[in-house]
Amino acid sequence: MSKKYTQIDTKLIHSGEPTPRILGAVSMPIFQTSMYEYRSGADYHDIKYIRLNNTPNHIALHTKLACLENAESALVTASGMAAISTTLLAILSAGDHLLVQNCLYGGTLDFITKDFPSFGITYDFIDGNDPESWEKKLKPKTRAIYVETITNPLLQVIDLEEIVSFSKQHKLISIIDNTFASPINFRPSELGFDLSLHSCTKYLNGHSDIVGGAVIGSSELITQITHKLNHLGGSMDPHACFLLQRGLKTLGLRVRQQNENANKIAHFLDKHQAVIKVNYPGLPGNPSYRRASDLFEGFGGMISFELHGGIDSVNNFFDKIELAIIAPSLGGIETLVTRPAATSHAGMSYKERQQAGISDTLIRISTGIEAVEEIIADFEQALG
Ligand code: PLP
Repeated sequence: MSKKYTQIDTKLIHSGEPTPRILGAVSMPIFQTSMYEYRSGADYHDIKYIRLNNTPNHIALHTKLACLENAESALVTASGMAAISTTLLAILSAGDHLLVQNCLYGGTLDFITKDFPSFGITYDFIDGNDPESWEKKLKPKTRAIYVETITNPLLQVIDLEEIVSFSKQHKLISIIDNTFASPINFRPSELGFDLSLHSCTKYLNGHSDIVGGAVIGSSELITQITHKLNHLGGSMDPHACFLLQRGLKTLGLRVRQQNENANKIAHFLDKHQAVIKVNYPGLPGNPSYRRASDLFEGFGGMISFELHGGIDSVNNFFDKIELAIIAPSLGGIETLVTRPAATSHAGMSYKERQQAGISDTLIRISTGIEAVEEIIADFEQALG
């Protein structure tokens, strides 16, 4: 199971695949059985059961995902939110404190701001671009720091190197949601992050047909999080495991195409007279451009932008769109457009969104792998 491949495209296909192949099967079969027979002499730890995340479908994925980010271990979960909530609850207990980046995916933000109080866990927001201000936010029981590789929906890249060195200096567990970058563009453990989280619903699966999550990091932390997941029960179903394993095989091809398409779309929008502002770290004028160029192998497939003319222009654009699909979520092979204020960030109040810089007219694009000239032609006619 653990042959060492050096190139990510080979790992996507071969790492974690069963050796020898199961009855010669070239693709991993689905083990659709909730429990497994055990022999006398086996103890509780030998028992295989879907909720314990230890069936052949889980194990193959754990090995593959760890290899992709050059980490020791990995764990798949029922959704991205299961990965996030289980990780935070495994690491933090009543009385503990978390430092959190001030611009986050809405579901994570909701979990921290609305659910943490009932667990007795406290938090403070940090400005990811102002490392000088972080130390003042530390408390005696600060245990961890939580950030995202590329923020949703403003596509900013904060000072990730400083986050790692600050965490090491203060013995904090550094956690990063790497969903937007995917292991093709960025591998957090190589920079020194302790834990990388994914919504596999997005790029890792890439076909908009499952929800799933993953946690990747050291064996010690993954064991701790697995125990919590066994109790909370957010395990991935074997059929979803199979689809994720299949989707992962084309991750490199998909994400590189999405990087390329997004770059062209961002440049097109940037020059368009109907557009006020484009947020994309691959635009040389973007404040995150230098950092993203230094840290990432690609700028990703996500773009957001503002139109002249307020909500009427946005509605008009959405009415005219033909190729792109108006839908939340992201990372699939089809181009999606959405308005974060009405979807991913609807849980925030208007005032909170304003403070975070998310206007009600911001449009977000998740670039697909269609022919880019046809995506651009669709946007061109919709903007006209
Ligand atoms: N992290 C990010 C960056 C996301 O955008 C999302 C969902 O949109 C999640 C986590 C949650 O993932 P899931 O919907 O799979 O629970």
